[in-house]
Amino acid sequence: MDRLLVVEDDAAIGQALTTGLLAGGYDVRWARTGGSALELAVDEPVDLVVLDVGLPDLDGYEVCRELRRLRPQAVIVMLTARQEEMDVVTGLESGADDYLTKPFRLAELLARVRAHLRRAAADDSVPRTVVLGSLAVDVRGRIATVGGVDVVLRAREFDLLSRLAAGAGTAVSREDLMHDVWDENWFGSTKTLDVHMAALRRRLADAAATDPEAARHLPVIVTLRGFGYRLQTA
Ligand code: CA
Repeated sequence: MDRLLVVEDDAAIGQALTTGLLAGGYDVRWARTGGSALELAVDEPVDLVVLDVGLPDLDGYEVCRELRRLRPQAVIVMLTARQEEMDVVTGLESGADDYLTKPFRLAELLARVRAHLRRAAADDSVPRTVVLGSLAVDVRGRIATVGGVDVVLRAREFDLLSRLAAGAGTAVSREDLMHDVWDENWFGSTKTLDVHMAALRRRLADAAATDPEAARHLPVIVTLRGFGYRLQTA
């Protein structure tokens, strides 16, 4: 059973979310503070976190960064009352995979949760490793290595890399990436894709930084202006 962690200090909202998600068939923990959420994430594996940005003890974005560090593969859905694009970008840069603005319907959250977890499970059913230069992407194990060394990627960064690797050498449109890596429910701007792509490039380059041989054979993600991207050998 998928394990969910709800981080919400508002008692009424927290109770409603917990009850709704339990009814949806998930194993749910509820933390009322950022501190207790991090303690839970240390103690137990978690597949998906529903994280309120406005918490009494810690900054929600900071909690997000720490959760991401503790559980790199977990999906993080942020909840916020704010709507400025700046906050969306801050959330994504903190490691969030998705974003819901309060007030929202429980059915909407459940749909997003199902879509995210279904995608994660589908990834597990594909027995395939793509090797390109010094990069190896184990799609099933959700492991990426450069020169044999693990690259720590966030869930959506790994999805992006998998999608590009699956079509290595061919152009993938922005629309296809948004559709395959996020889903049709995603309401955010295409900035989301740019932020994740920049992070992915940075992480791959960092992974190769100490190994000149790996760096020389690291594939590049080419930007195709007005279209999308192509992953190709250097
Ligand atoms: Ca709150």
